[in-house]
Order: sequence, then C-alpha cells, then structure tokens
Amino acid sequence: MPPLGLGVDLGGTNARAAVVDTDTGEIVAAHKEPLRDRSPPRVVEVVSHALREAASAAGVDLAGVRSVGVGVAGQCLGATGVVLNAPNLAWRDVPFGEMLRTAIGVPVRLANDLSVAAWGEKRFGAAKGIDDVVLVFVGSGVGSGLILGGRLHDGAQGVAGEFGHVKVRPSRPDTRPRRCGCGMTGCLEAYTSGMNVAARVREEVAAGAPTSIATLAGGDLSRVSASLVDDAYRGGDPYARALWEEVGELLGTAIANLVTILNPARLILGGGVLLGCPALAAIVQARFDAAVSISATTGLSVERAWLGDDAGVIGAAVLD
Ligand SMILES: [Zn+2]
Repeated sequence: MPPLGLGVDLGGTNARAAVVDTDTGEIVAAHKEPLRDRSPPRVVEVVSHALREAASAAGVDLAGVRSVGVGVAGQCLGATGVVLNAPNLAWRDVPFGEMLRTAIGVPVRLANDLSVAAWGEKRFGAAKGIDDVVLVFVGSGVGSGLILGGRLHDGAQGVAGEFGHVKVRPSRPDTRPRRCGCGMTGCLEAYTSGMNVAARVREEVAAGAPTSIATLAGGDLSRVSASLVDDAYRGGDPYARALWEEVGELLGTAIANLVTILNPARLILGGGVLLGCPALAAIVQARFDAAVSISATTGLSVERAWLGDDAGVIGAAVLD
C-alpha cells in the first residue's frame, strides 16, 4: 500500500475529506458532506463522519493515522488549532483543532485554506519542486498562500498571507467605503472578491447606474456575477469598464506589491474571478506590469493553479 495521508477541506457550505497518496498526490478516496448546521459541535460531527467514510473507502484505520490536516476558509492559529475568524462559518475563536482531535482521537493540524492549497500546488501541482511560491486566489473571497524557502509560511501566529485584508484605496471618487466580512473597511477583498463585486453592482444598479449588466442577468439581479461584469465590459459597457479599471488596478497593484516584497520564483493565480474573467485578467496583468519592481520579476513565472478544488484536501493531507 502506498504511503497515505488524510486531509479535510472545510469551506462554508461543505466539508470534504480525502485519503491521499502522499508520494503522488493522487486522491485514493474522498467523501463530501454538506454543512446544514454550522455550529462547531455539528461541524465536528460532519467532519469526523466524512473522515471515517473516506478512510473506510480506502481501507485505512482512522485511529492508526499519524495526523489529519485541515484547511479552513478563515484565519487560523495554526499552532493551537483555534479558528480565529471564519466569516463563512460565522465562527470566532473556535478551538476546532482540539474539538476534532477529541472526536477522532488523532492529532489535527489546522491551516488556512489557501495555505494548504499553496502547499498542495508546491508538492504536486503548478509549483512542484519550487521553493519560493506565492499563490493568489480571487474567487468568492480573496487570499494568498506563501511558500518561502521551501516551507509553508504561516507566520508567528499562523495568520500570515491574509492578502484579502490588506487595505487599499480605490481610485474612483464615487466608490463608497465597503465593509469586509472580517469587520474592517477598506480591505482588498471588499472591493475585488466575486461576492463583493456582485453586491456592489446590485447596489449601484438599484441606485440607477446605467449599465447593461441587469439585462445580461435577465432582469434578475440575484444572477449578477463577476463574469457578467466581464461580459458587459467586453460588450463596451461604460459602467463595467469603469468598474473593471478600478478592480483591476487594485488587484494588479496589490499582487505586484506582494511579488516586490517576497520575490517568488512562481506566482500561481487561482479562483473564478481571476481565471474566469479574461477582460479583468488583462487589466490586472497590465497594472501588475506597471507596478512591480522589475528586479523581482527576473526569473518569475506565472502559472494558473493546476489542482483546482482538490488543492485544499491534497495540501491538507500532506501538511508536515
Ligand atoms: Zn477584511
């Protein structure tokens, strides 16, 4: 039997557990369950059950494994297993690592979902064999995962890489300050994540902004999304153009600053907003090129994430 590891991807709507071949990154067995009730004790039950199902499908005795890795969509104190803040789960200061360890009788290692995704990409994906890696994800949320000197960099408290919560200053004079899911205002995520872009467009359309986006959404504002803004942009819609110029500048400049500071050999881009909105991606690229320190781009290569939705469970299963 190959060497196996167990990983969990804990998002806001589902928990997915997988048994992974730690030599190849191949998922041997996986089990996904919806989170109907997000209270911590219920989530512990769901995650424990998902782990038992995945382990049993792979013929693994859960009690015999060395540890279980968990990637959580939120800020985690990696060393203590405490989830500080997970807006999608409505959790603050939840000792999830300890609760899960008690439930399954196996040590638990907790990390931010994008940290484990970056680790998965470093071990088996778009950054295999590369020691200095920055992964930037712009989807429903915004975040990053950092690999520095071959190691996952999670900082003194385990909360490094919270890229969505760096503060930015939008360029348009009519852009209102936006509150972020973390409770602060002015976060990059509040202006650029798919959920926040859609919320902003809905508000501005309701306030009378002239744009074709409502028509593209079939008159149903609940269908407004970043990809519809991208469609409108490519159709020449002036509102979408102004919005994308602002969002693209914020993202391109912030990513350039990250690369200037950390000098990675590989930048990995992921998430539906960055990968599914070609017009926005072109603006991000132009703003990145204009802002990044040239010396930090020598030897830099940019790749799309390879592992997709599997990066989290795979990276979690091979957390050291
Ligand atoms: Zn924030």
